[in-house]
Amino acid sequence: MRRKCPRCSFVTDDDSITKCRRDHSVLVEAGTSVLRVAFANGVTVEIAPGDEVRFGRDPDWSDHAEWLQEFAKVSRRHATVGFRTGGTAWVMVESDSRNLTYVGSTPIAKGRSITLDDGCTLRFSRKLSATVTIETGDDL
Ligand SMILES: [Zn+2]
Repeated sequence: MRRKCPRCSFVTDDDSITKCRRDHSVLVEAGTSVLRVAFANGVTVEIAPGDEVRFGRDPDWSDHAEWLQEFAKVSRRHATVGFRTGGTAWVMVESDSRNLTYVGSTPIAKGRSITLDDGCTLRFSRKLSATVTIETGDDL
């Protein structure tokens, strides 16, 4: 199965390679889409089809806890963002999140999930927003 880097032109047919040799991005199947969550502070998170990523300040729960520490209004277990294999993106606000999450101007209740449209703005706190884009395989 041919896989490629979502960030650069690296392509491989070698199944033993899981990450890009140049920038260490997780490779995705060539021709598939990737969900890109670009935070205003410069952190960009890419999510492959079928994957989900947890955001919060709890290092036992979220791989992104370290850089989120500076955002006091982001909960320890704040929200999960996922990308279905069919190409639909979603965010779920965790039930123990104490702070509001918005998609565009819509507040999302705790324990609820909502579809993320290409180009929408996701806001975890007043100081932390992100632009969500779905890059199709042709763009990769
Ligand atoms: Zn790369």
